[in-house]
Amino acid sequence: MARAALAHSSDHPAAERFPELSVVVPLYNEEESLPHLVEKLLAALRPLGRSFELVLVDDGSKDGTAAVLRDLAARVPELVAVLLRRNYGQTAAMAAGFDASSGGVIVTLDGDLQNDPADIPMLLARLEQDDLDLVSGWRQQRQDGALDRLLPSLLANRLIARVTGVRLHDYGCSLKAYRREVVSDMNLYGELHRFLPALAFIEGARIGEVRVSHQARRYGRSNYGIDRTFRVLMDLLTVWFMKRFLTRPMHVFGFAGLLALLVGLAIAAWLVGEKLLVGADIGNRPLLLMAVLAILSGVQLFSFGLLAELQMRTYHESQGRPIYRVRAIVRGEPG
Ligand code: UDP
Ligand code: MG
Repeated sequence: MARAALAHSSDHPAAERFPELSVVVPLYNEEESLPHLVEKLLAALRPLGRSFELVLVDDGSKDGTAAVLRDLAARVPELVAVLLRRNYGQTAAMAAGFDASSGGVIVTLDGDLQNDPADIPMLLARLEQDDLDLVSGWRQQRQDGALDRLLPSLLANRLIARVTGVRLHDYGCSLKAYRREVVSDMNLYGELHRFLPALAFIEGARIGEVRVSHQARRYGRSNYGIDRTFRVLMDLLTVWFMKRFLTRPMHVFGFAGLLALLVGLAIAAWLVGEKLLVGADIGNRPLLLMAVLAILSGVQLFSFGLLAELQMRTYHESQGRPIYRVRAIVRGEPG
């Protein structure tokens, strides 16, 4: 992403050719939706009278998505098709799209037509009117299964809002608009794309939310199952940790330490009470040793896990190792 930021500096000879807006869409097995998607995007964006590019990322699809993209590139001049070497996941595909894009404002959405491109002008208007850094969609009448999707989302949204302090209603909505600065320095991996608002908020971004429509998936099927919930929760833990640790490390370790200390003291007090009141012999009580050991190792393991998590992040950021590899970038031509 640093590359794109660099390329954006004003002394760059090609500065004028950068579009105002980049729409980034990750695609995995979306060959059927794709032509409709591009059509709807063009219909929504061309009337705006602004320069834009459609950065469509094929995330190693097994179907004909890449071929359809190449076809489209032959006649849609605004298209930038990024073809990844294999399937890297939605977050990595989006990161690839951000890196390949050059617009000052970036809009993301899903490629399965569940988000409506016609909502994009509304997001842009809000971004500019309220001078925000990020505007996130809030899906109305969400067209997904109740038990397998809506309920987990409801709980996840509440939890994420509480943990991160960013009070959005709908973290799972891919339809968002960002100023480039928000994503240009972000190191994404795992399922972190859905925490972009939280990560941006930590960096001081102003965030807004607008209601958007949501359609049922027409072609293909969702690429995700319940295992995503688990991965998202683990990423949430990381985000929470980053937020806490990077600002007040003592709040993390101090709280756990205090809790353990209190429990230990309570057990000790209980044993001392037994000795004083009943005259029991506590010197050789396994309870004492066991409780203290359990607490200590629990605290140590917890802190260790968190440190390891932070270490992972440092690792991801210091390695400079890309989370995706590009096979080809095909630029659209006037048809
Ligand atoms: N996607 C991707 N790589 C993957 C899985 C999904 O690029 O490994 C894309 C997919 O094509 C779609 C978006 O991410 O554009 C959201 O995926 P999906 O519709 O399957 O998720 P859901 O709507 O069920 O949350
Ligand atoms: Mg979908």
